[in-house]
Amino acid sequence: MSKDETLGEALRRQGVTRRGFLKFCAATASMMALPPSMVPAIAAALEKARRPSVIWLSFQECTGCIESLTRSHSPTVEGLIFDAISLDYQHALQAAAGSAAEAARETAMEENYGKYILIVDGSIPLANPGYSTIAGISNLAMLEETAKGAAAVVSMGSCAAFGGIPKAKPNPTGAVSVGDIIKDKPIINVPGCPPIPVVITGVLAHFLIFGTIPELDALGRPMAYYGQSIHDRCYRRPFYDKGKFANTFDDEGAKKGWCLYKLGCKGPTTYNACATTKWNDGTSFPIEAGHPCLGCSEPDFWDGGGFYKAISTPTEDIPKAAIYAVGAGAAAGLALGALNRAKRDKAVAEHVKTTIDDLEKGD
Ligand code: SF4
Ligand code: SF4
Repeated sequence: MSKDETLGEALRRQGVTRRGFLKFCAATASMMALPPSMVPAIAAALEKARRPSVIWLSFQECTGCIESLTRSHSPTVEGLIFDAISLDYQHALQAAAGSAAEAARETAMEENYGKYILIVDGSIPLANPGYSTIAGISNLAMLEETAKGAAAVVSMGSCAAFGGIPKAKPNPTGAVSVGDIIKDKPIINVPGCPPIPVVITGVLAHFLIFGTIPELDALGRPMAYYGQSIHDRCYRRPFYDKGKFANTFDDEGAKKGWCLYKLGCKGPTTYNACATTKWNDGTSFPIEAGHPCLGCSEPDFWDGGGFYKAISTPTEDIPKAAIYAVGAGAAAGLALGALNRAKRDKAVAEHVKTTIDDLEKGD
């Protein structure tokens, strides 16, 4: 696919039918948490979208983030999204190595200056410039140099977004996040250890469709995926509300699928989309497999006071009236969330309509 070819043209050239394309748009709408009524608008915008250049830098990381993305099932929305971007530099996926790889990064920066998307996974070591270098360039220098011409930076995974496991005590490399270094570019944090594949592609799809960064929360995370806690959407929540908890991993409560709060579940304080999008092509997520949430999409989760310790007093120790009050509060919160989503969907629908009107005027 050439860079001048639109996504619609490329998909037709690859033999994707109109029906297949609309199916792809419906999946895109769903992964961006947009209503089905948005599908025609998304189809029209994607039809005309051109591939943005993407430079992906990997620093102090375990390759889990890119593994997460590439372990998605086929045929995938993810695959189509990757056809729809120009991934000009990515260590694990590119064929070029050594000076040819560095030349690809420099060419992509030069040709797309001010327009490319920079994705970073891994933290940046500051304690010793000799830790973690690529082609003899320190991670810090490469990040600063590459961020200069980027339209926006995506911090992929908890290491890039918040420092992650390399920053955990005693932090021997002096690891910091991308946001600790880059202060003059829009930054989208996509935390998770690793992040969920559809969240990664959803952020890229937002760029393709709207050309803007999505609405973010106070920690710079896209609201569409990090706007609610795991606990808000957990299917074990009715047991929590009734005070029914598993106390060990093999007791009666565990066998009956009761709440994992007493086994250290961090779902109430963790914001991520695991309970809704799930993992492995929507098959399951850790709590569904019987393991408490570790809070991997929150800052400093590794140092957060013990993975298998309850975070505070469980509801079974709270008087019943207070449980009902919590339930009413949660219901009010859910209603407010629905109202906010409706407002956001309306604003997005208007934005897409204006974009398409503008595109059509330009034809
Ligand atoms: S505490 Fe954990 S297992 Fe229990 S309802 Fe909340 S998220 Fe689900
Ligand atoms: S359930 Fe919790 S620890 Fe597990 S992947 Fe989701 S946010 Fe991370």
